[in-house]
Amino acid sequence: MLWRQIDRLTGADPLVDFDYAIKSRIAVAYTAIFTLMGLVNAAVLAFVLDGRPGMVELGLASGLLAGSVGVTGLKLRRPNATIAAMILLASLVLFAAAWANRGSFPPATLYLPGILLGAYIAWGARAALFAILPLAAYFGLIISTAHVTEGGRLGFNPSELLDMLVAAGALSCVWIVLFGSSFRSATTDAQSALAASNQRLETALIAAQQANRAKSDFIANMSHEVRTPLNGVLGMTNVLQADTSLSDDHRRSLELIDDSGKALLELLNDILDLSKIEADALELDNREFDLADLIRNTTDHWRPQAETKGVALTVNNQLGDPAFVRGDPLRLRQIINNLLANAVKFTHSGRISVTLTTVGEVREGKTRVRLSVRDTGIGIPGNKQDSIFDPFNQVDASMTRRYGGTGLGLAICRRLVNKMNGKITLSSKMGRGSTFTVDVPLERIATSEQPVVTRDPASTKPVEAAGRVLVVDDVVTNQLVLKAMVQQIVRADELVVDCASGGREAVNKATSFAYDVVLMDIQMPEMDGVSAMQCIRETRKSADARIIAVTALASDDHRREFLAAGFTDYLPKPVEIAELRRVLEIALVTDRRSDAPTDEESRVSSG
Ligand code: ADP
Repeated sequence: MLWRQIDRLTGADPLVDFDYAIKSRIAVAYTAIFTLMGLVNAAVLAFVLDGRPGMVELGLASGLLAGSVGVTGLKLRRPNATIAAMILLASLVLFAAAWANRGSFPPATLYLPGILLGAYIAWGARAALFAILPLAAYFGLIISTAHVTEGGRLGFNPSELLDMLVAAGALSCVWIVLFGSSFRSATTDAQSALAASNQRLETALIAAQQANRAKSDFIANMSHEVRTPLNGVLGMTNVLQADTSLSDDHRRSLELIDDSGKALLELLNDILDLSKIEADALELDNREFDLADLIRNTTDHWRPQAETKGVALTVNNQLGDPAFVRGDPLRLRQIINNLLANAVKFTHSGRISVTLTTVGEVREGKTRVRLSVRDTGIGIPGNKQDSIFDPFNQVDASMTRRYGGTGLGLAICRRLVNKMNGKITLSSKMGRGSTFTVDVPLERIATSEQPVVTRDPASTKPVEAAGRVLVVDDVVTNQLVLKAMVQQIVRADELVVDCASGGREAVNKATSFAYDVVLMDIQMPEMDGVSAMQCIRETRKSADARIIAVTALASDDHRREFLAAGFTDYLPKPVEIAELRRVLEIALVTDRRSDAPTDEESRVSSG
């Protein structure tokens, strides 16, 4: 309490500046005690003892000097200087007294513990060690001025030294209690303030975590809500595009709708990805795939666009073909796609070259695979080369107007590469071009046991197979889109496409009819897609149906989760017509062929 009142006078506050407060308190203690000791010493010498000449004056002067120096230093808010001045003053008094009392220990020796302890608390052990030299000089002065008798003994009485030590020890206790109490009260205050601030931080952390969760939920929900109508736009556009009777104008308009819808979808995916990475909720896949094939496919996708601008797109693969590795093919494709999209967008002449190679040694079974995308495009100014990896950052605002884009691609790339324990670097010169280099550690595999699936992606031939398909979705638009798509892909008179608006209705229908394919939405009121799928598996008629999860829950984790729950396959919304074709082809053609008895089997059964 007393210290807090003293703090008020010196303008110190241990909660704001602990060091300043402690030093101010030491300076106050010095001022009070040295002043008091000087005056008491002078009084004792004057009235009680008959001291040597000049000792009273010395005591008086030292007391008054200590008081005025201390008060001035504290007023000027200079605790360090005040402590230093006090120690210097006490030391001078000590030496003067030792000289005046030639050969015996002056009462001022009692200052010693205070000097040492104060220096130690204010400036640490090193400062206290500095006192050793003046201390040695002090004792040397006393001993050298002592009268040496003929017998060889010193002139001072050894019991005098003992008395002085006892008195100094006793006074040390006063110093320790004084400085200790100042320290203790300051630490208690600081500790309670720290506890309160920890509590506040904890509350703030919980609030921030809740807000972050709410943000992630909001983004996930928004993404679902936006995907659903987008599903209608893109799906119906796809269906209309297949109409051969369309005029060129209508076809161009449809292409525009399709492009805009896809751009919106891409933006949605980017925002969802970024928020997932930031919330550390993104899990990487770890599966075997052919990296050479992935690079080839991705570059093939961008080549026509580059060539229309007169830009050559080449691949230099030094990894071998095939190049099987273990990693996350989807995310690697996303990174390469982003880099290539930028290279194509920002290059107007020259070439874009993609190089695939390895660097360094194999460590922990992983090879550092280096992928670089070099272009001869517009380049990126040196002062922007770091910031373009931040979300929503572009070289300047005119970029957005001229080239479009959101500034999310590279931010996602850097985060994905970091998550893969790799790094992405950029070197670029304005007007000369840019090179983005991605280094990622990947486990290389000599050969893959997985069969390489070759598919004809451009196939638009109708699937000619009869079958019964059930489309389940609580949104009528989605039902209509999927139904139209199925009817466009499968051309057979005996094709039946039914719709159900919820899980329960789907189960009822699957109980009455034998379905070949069920396209099942997941998030539906009353009965969700997973429960409906499980119930359909229990029915007698549709137990063997291929039940496909069709959902806007579009992450890799969700895909794994649905397949593990018992779905036969998975289609993300908005449904791509090529993907739907693949699923229907397997269900209505491939599966049936493999289910059909072989010649051998039919002979045995008929025999
Ligand atoms: P976006 O391309 O959607 O704007 P990115 O994060 O992919 O977002 O890129 C951020 C910015 O970095 C771009 O807007 C562009 O200014 C610059 N940039 C990226 N790649 C290149 C490149 N190959 N050449 C020139 N500038 C580039």
